Amino acid sequence: MSMETTAWTQLQSVMSAQRERRPFARATLRRIGAFARPHRRRIALFVVLGVVTALLAVATPVLAGRVVDAIVTGGAEGTVVRLALLIALIAVGEAALGILARRLSATLGEGLILDLRTAVFDHVQRMPVAFFTRTRTGALVSRLNNDVIGAQRAFSNTLSGVVSNLVTLLLTLAVMLTLSWQITLLALVLLPVFVLPARRMGHRMARMQREAAALNAAMGTRMTERFSAPGATLIKLFGRPGEESQEFASRARRVADIGVRTATAQSVFITALTLVSALALALVYGLGGWFALRGTLEPGAVVSLALLLTRMYAPLTALAGARVEVMSALVSFERVFEVLDLKPLIEEKPDARPVPEGPVAVEFDNVRFGYPSADKVSLASLEEVASLDTRGGAEVLHGISFRAEPGQTVALVGSSGAGKSTVAQLLPRLYDVDEGAVRVGGVDVRDLSAESLRATLGMVTQDGHLFHDTVRANLLLARPTATDDELWDALRRSRMDELVRSLPDGLDTVVGERGYRLSGGERQRMTIARLLLARQRVVILDEATAHLDNTSEAAVQEALTEALEGRTAVVIAHRLSTVRAADQILVVEAGRIVERGTHEELLAAEGRYAELYRTQFQQPDPAFPQPDSAERLDSAKVEARSHQEHTNIDNIVASTVSTT
Ligand code: ADP
Repeated sequence: MSMETTAWTQLQSVMSAQRERRPFARATLRRIGAFARPHRRRIALFVVLGVVTALLAVATPVLAGRVVDAIVTGGAEGTVVRLALLIALIAVGEAALGILARRLSATLGEGLILDLRTAVFDHVQRMPVAFFTRTRTGALVSRLNNDVIGAQRAFSNTLSGVVSNLVTLLLTLAVMLTLSWQITLLALVLLPVFVLPARRMGHRMARMQREAAALNAAMGTRMTERFSAPGATLIKLFGRPGEESQEFASRARRVADIGVRTATAQSVFITALTLVSALALALVYGLGGWFALRGTLEPGAVVSLALLLTRMYAPLTALAGARVEVMSALVSFERVFEVLDLKPLIEEKPDARPVPEGPVAVEFDNVRFGYPSADKVSLASLEEVASLDTRGGAEVLHGISFRAEPGQTVALVGSSGAGKSTVAQLLPRLYDVDEGAVRVGGVDVRDLSAESLRATLGMVTQDGHLFHDTVRANLLLARPTATDDELWDALRRSRMDELVRSLPDGLDTVVGERGYRLSGGERQRMTIARLLLARQRVVILDEATAHLDNTSEAAVQEALTEALEGRTAVVIAHRLSTVRAADQILVVEAGRIVERGTHEELLAAEGRYAELYRTQFQQPDPAFPQPDSAERLDSAKVEARSHQEHTNIDNIVASTVSTT
């Protein structure tokens, strides 16, 4: 009989009573089985060890009985010494096997933790961006830590204990029955006293375990959120530290309360079991002594029975406790599987193709899109809400069509909330369209391989994120094989080389949230350096709305000029220089393209663009002189002025955004 079958049969029978109240699906057990399968050799060895240990455990009480009999019947001294030596030998054997078994079970348990953790990490990594925007990081990390460890307990402590304890129990019972079936049966009458509370406690402890896990996660998320740099800043500026402390203390107190409740319940449970076993022992002494006095039982048998009984109740207690532990471990398994079961919304097709070679066009074909509802992308328990919003997101893009020819720049303009960033996010497949298609190089992005899409599309966001790592590591993300020379070249072209050279450890300086703080413009230039390294053919650029100082601005502009050269670009434009140089400007309003054309065409049309031009693009733009407010009101003058600007600074425009 394999360990798996024994353990599973045992588990199933332990759980059958549980089923009506909170059914642990058979599927869960099957999946645990799947995780155990790679370790089956070790598990088998562990079972063998368990059986040998059980045999040794039964041998000692029988030998002790023999010693008593030898004394009572006045046997040879040699016999007693030999028996004592044998008992000593068995004790040493038991000790050695115990250590071996513990080592084996730890290896099994840790192996399981490793498998579960990597599975959860790999899976979470594949989740869409929508998942990360919704879930609380702390709750997710808690799944990876606490629950995975909880799940492992089922293996290394419980499941393993179940096997050897079951063998010990059966062997002990068999030996006891041969010694005196009457006493054995009477002692067994007390069995229900074990089983009944164990069942009740099982439910209670599992409930408490679930509650404790949720409370711990809630406490964790509070900490990670409040102690992140932006969170801490917000509290310093607006927060009421007193109330924050109180709120935290109340969460921590709930964790403490449940800890006390669990400990009390456990102790009541264990004490009750110990008491019952002590009562059974009294029964054996009383009844066995009475039989011995009447000559129907050997005195040695009474001693053997008493010792065997204590050895029987120990595995029984362990088994009853195992039940409780198995219940709580299963809760953890369920919480881990819950994460593994989340379907990534965006998956690569099995027959995904690479992006065609050469310069590529980008095309939106009557694209309609609404952000997915919460229940499609997330888990209620990870957002710390009771249930998720099932309402489908309202449609945000209502039939967007445009085409950027290879090497062209398309600028998206429009008021905030119009849908520009949404358009940008559909290109690298951060989300999938509901209707219509997004094509890169003439192929629907849903038919392209993720790797080739990544290699083709580069995104420069307003605020490039840097990992807490060295400059080098942050750059190598874009091209892991890049040499230092190539890194320096990219830094030079993104106007970052001087700054990096001035850092204390150059390329090895740690940047990011807790390292050397780069400014907004510097971070954007780092992103541009990444883009230059990755050499992606299509660039999605979200221009900074925040005002950089003039030097920074000029540096970013120069870097961008290099980065966009010869590339197809979709730019969420906030600068006049960009829109004027774009091959095509799309004016997006409320999820629709309401106007399209070049800067001059649109200004002449006197529509929404002309209006935006007067409001949005009149911000100081270091590359351009601004018309004054009187001129701004007069659209004819604005146009005249813009033409004038255009001729004056033609060269700058040409070099700012390449439109080849
Ligand atoms: P823009 O970039 O033009 O300012 P966005 O594309 O960011 O506009 O937003 C378009 C609309 O989509 C807005 O109504 C916004 O509230 C909504 N929206 C943006 N991001 C999300 C999201 N992650 N989930 C749901 N709705 C969103």
